[in-house]
Amino acid sequence: MYSQLIKIGTAHITLWWAHLTEANIALQKQITACEYEYCQQADDPSTAGQRLLSRVLTRQAIANYLNVDLLSVPIVRTCQSCGAEHGLPRIDLALWHKHLLFKPIKLPYISVTHSKMYVGVVLADVPIGIDLEYRTDIDQQLHASETQWNWVSREAQFKYQSNLQISQENPQYYKQVSNDSAYLVNLPIADNEYLGAIALPACCVNS
Ligand SMILES: [Zn+2]
Repeated sequence: MYSQLIKIGTAHITLWWAHLTEANIALQKQITACEYEYCQQADDPSTAGQRLLSRVLTRQAIANYLNVDLLSVPIVRTCQSCGAEHGLPRIDLALWHKHLLFKPIKLPYISVTHSKMYVGVVLADVPIGIDLEYRTDIDQQLHASETQWNWVSREAQFKYQSNLQISQENPQYYKQVSNDSAYLVNLPIADNEYLGAIALPACCVNS
């Protein structure tokens, strides 16, 4: 697992990476019992590993950003559509509120992606969306007129829009940006079998 800082325009982005071979049982100490239970409910070992790594990375990234203890961050993933624990990860604002009284800082925007052997988490001070795909997997789902880049940029944009919505609903907790279209950049990954995109507010790069 490692993290890298990326500066795009005025946006400060931290990208956290893990490889599926790093998934091991000792990591359960870094997540909650509920999170670990969800990992174990997976139908196959690689899905369980992806779930484990994405939860560990999300906690590490947020704890690092806010300078708080790993397990003290209240993270919710309740899906808006079906209520399962596979939704966009976000900080539980009601539970975090007490902490915020002592830490009057804005919360980070979070986006998570996983594909085959990799898990990626981005944190940023502006709404953000990330998508990574194994190229062979996208090819099986693409329409004839689409490119692989169309696919990953659409997914990243979708997650960006979700973050934009969370920020507009909770302006006291998140740094605001103008209701802006997304600017898309290639996700920096050395493995050419994968393609990824990051979506961020266009105003960050155009100002
Ligand atoms: Zn759902």
